[in-house]
This record gives sequence, structure tokens and C-alpha cells, in this order.
Amino acid sequence: MLAMTVYVGIDDTDSRTGMCTTYLASELIREFEEYDLIGYPRLVRLNPNIPWKTRGNGAICLRFGKGRGGKFPVCRIEDQEFFAFERGDGSLSPSEFEEGVAKVVESHFMTDDENTNPAFVVLSRKPASSLYWRAVRDVVALEDVKRLVSGNGLYRVYKNGRGLIGATSAVSWRPRDRTYEIITYRQRDKWGTERALKKGSVMAMDERFDSTFNNFDYEEDGIAIAPNSPCPVLFGIRGDDPEDLVPAMSAIRGEKAQRWTIFLTNQGTDEHLVKRRIRNIGKNQSVIVQGKVVKPPRRIQGGHLIFRISDGDEIDCAAYEPSKKFRKVVSELLEGDELTVYGSVRDKPRTVNVEKLQINSLKAIKEKEGNPECPQCGRRMKSAGSNAGYRCRRCHVRAGEEKAKRSPVARPISPGFYEPTVSARRHLSKPLKRIQN
Ligand code: ATP
Repeated sequence: MLAMTVYVGIDDTDSRTGMCTTYLASELIREFEEYDLIGYPRLVRLNPNIPWKTRGNGAICLRFGKGRGGKFPVCRIEDQEFFAFERGDGSLSPSEFEEGVAKVVESHFMTDDENTNPAFVVLSRKPASSLYWRAVRDVVALEDVKRLVSGNGLYRVYKNGRGLIGATSAVSWRPRDRTYEIITYRQRDKWGTERALKKGSVMAMDERFDSTFNNFDYEEDGIAIAPNSPCPVLFGIRGDDPEDLVPAMSAIRGEKAQRWTIFLTNQGTDEHLVKRRIRNIGKNQSVIVQGKVVKPPRRIQGGHLIFRISDGDEIDCAAYEPSKKFRKVVSELLEGDELTVYGSVRDKPRTVNVEKLQINSLKAIKEKEGNPECPQCGRRMKSAGSNAGYRCRRCHVRAGEEKAKRSPVARPISPGFYEPTVSARRHLSKPLKRIQN
């Protein structure tokens, strides 16, 4: 079959003990050096609530063909730099790519992990973007995806083949909102060892490059660009302007990277979230719900805070311990406050894990200042007992509790958006910096 260009999608090659699917992008670029890369390699994050994900539920997609238009750097491996073109065409057959992609996947995936079920696709056409939307927001069945790719190029699956869902969904993404990430990778002999990055250089980079985000956790005083896992990633810098990413990367001091790749991504876009009524919230979904606090926050073991909201139906919301000072805001919520909660839904116990919070309005609260004055003689009335109202000793006039003098109390929080500390944010969550800029 001849196509204009081909799309290669890969997923599920890594395990908790090593590798990272994004590493394969640079391997593919080198493997298919004689073809042109069209557009940035893509890193597409899918439903963060999928129970069988390794970490961040990410899959990659690269497009090859004959490049047209301007070219720009997208990858470097040691001294070799690779470029991509703005546009492309060609007359390629997916089968030209099959063995090369298989070689890259097979020499990298973590075969020993039962949760690693790789797959790749080489497609001549992008599947409908509805697949991406389902895969980022819901659970997709493997059989549905097999049907979608048949007759449109080829695919290969390993073990239970579940990776086909992510691999195909990554190809089907048509960016609306988008961000970029430059990911740097370590020398092979460093894999699994501690990463040595200079904290001060990350802070300085964060200050200097305003188009980047989630670099440094000022609350925790820690670097947020480097993972803790034994994977090949040294660090990743995310941002809105791809042209800032190479200079931002070069500003980081410490361990030297062996290679880097710039990805176009759906990270930081909130595309996993859907506005829903509480009664319509399903399993493994991420939601935006609007409601009133009906049970104020209580602290549970581990330092997590749980509060309940209602829009007619009720659901618990959780601000987990790693969200840090965000919990301080949550702890000030009172019954009657009106909120929009953004987060992922845990099934058991059924709870929204809060990723972001908008306080729409705070319930006005008043504090008792003093007893009311007698409407006849003007003297201060006396209490007639607990919750029994007031009584004037002289005139014997009575007044209810509500007649007490009250003045408004300032709430320590105000309406607006709040989010967890940098290192507790999800890949897909749109940081407030991107909302407010
Ligand atoms: P990393 O972020 O470190 O690359 P990961 O968290 O991406 O790892 P994977 O190893 O890719 O984890 O595992 C995710 C698995 O879930 C893949 O097999 C993928 O095809 C599948 N998957 C992704 N999204 C969905 C979805 N919406 N419905 C069903 N399965 C999905």
C-alpha cells in the first residue's frame, strides 16, 4: 500500500524498573535517518486513571516522509543533530518501516515485566481524533482499536498487546491546545544511579525562561524536572515555546546528557477533564464538577484532607498529602462555599482526587459581637439561657438569638484558582501559569 507519509506509534515498552517509551523516539529517528521526519515527535499522555499504566500513561508518534518547508532541530544524539520539516509528502509504504520499528522496540522493551505489553503501528492515515478523545478521557477496548487499524497500514503487538491502544491513540491526536517538552537522556552507564543536577541552575533557568513551567518546587525546595525512577531520562523541561527549550536545557548544570529530543505534547492542557454532574461521573474518569461544600474538610491518616461537595448529588473530594500547602487552602473551606473541582475519580472509595480548585464564592460568616439592645429602653439585654434568646431585665421584653449583634468575619482565603505544589501535579493538568498567562 502506498501512502503520502507514514505515522509510527509506539506504546508500553517500559516498566517501573527501567526504560521509557520516549527514549525510543530518538532511536527511531536514527534508525530512519534516510527518511525525513515531519513535525515534532509527539508525546501523547492518555487517561491518567488507567489502572495498568506504568507511570504517566504516555505514548509516542513520529511521522516520516519527504520533508517540505523549513526545518528545525528536534533531536541530538552525542554529536549528531537531527532535524524535522514543517510539512511533508511522499509515497511510502508502511511495510518499509516494519522491521526497523520492530528492531527498535524489541531491543528496548522490558520483557520481564508482566505489565509491559508493547505494540507499534505504522499507519498511512491518522485514525479519527475521536479515538484520542476516548483514550485520554475513558477506557478503550483493544478489540475496537484492532478494528480501527485494520486496512490502514500495519501493527505488531507483543504479549497481551494492550500497547496497541496507546500506540494508535497517539497517532490519532490532532493538537488543539499543545505544549512542548525537551527530554534529555543519560549516558547508559548512569542508568539507575542518582541524578546529579545543580539546584541553583534549575531555579535560574525557571526565572529566565518564562515560557517554561513546572521546573522547580519552591514549596518543597526541590528540582521538579528530573524523575526519581531508574529510567534513562535525565530531565525534561516543559514549555509553551519550543524555541526556548534548547537554551533552557543548556542552562542546567550537573550531569551531562547523552541525547535529547523535543516533543510536541498534550501535557498541561487539561484535555483529560470533562464537565460532569456528580451523578454522571463514571469509573476511571477525570472531571470538572461544580458544587457547594456540604461537609467541611477533615484530616485523615497520612495528612490527607477529605471534604464533600454537592450539586444535588454528593461526592467526596481529596487533597492528598503530597499537594502540600494546597491543603492549607482546602482546610479553610466551610459548608456553603461554592467550588469548581478539577480532578480524577477514584472508584474505591469514590473520591475526586483534586488536581485544581476554583473557589467561586465563599459563604459570608458573621461572629457575635454582643447581645441586642432592648427595643423599649435601649439597654443591653441579657441571655435567657443557651439558645433561648435574650430578655430585658427591666422591661421583660424578649428577643430571639438572631437579634444578637453580629459583624462579618474575614475569611483567610479568597475566590480564585488554587493548585497543588509543582511536584504533585499530573502531566495532563494545566498549570495555573498557563491559565493566567
Ligand atoms: P511511561 O509514562 O513511563 O511511558 P506509561 O505510564 O505510559 O509509562 P504504559 O506502559 O504506556 O504506561 O502503559 C499504559 C497501557 O495502557 C498501554 O498498554 C496503553 O495502550 C494502555 N492504555 C492507555 N490508555 C488507555 C485507555 N484509555 N484505555 C485502555 N487502555 C489504555
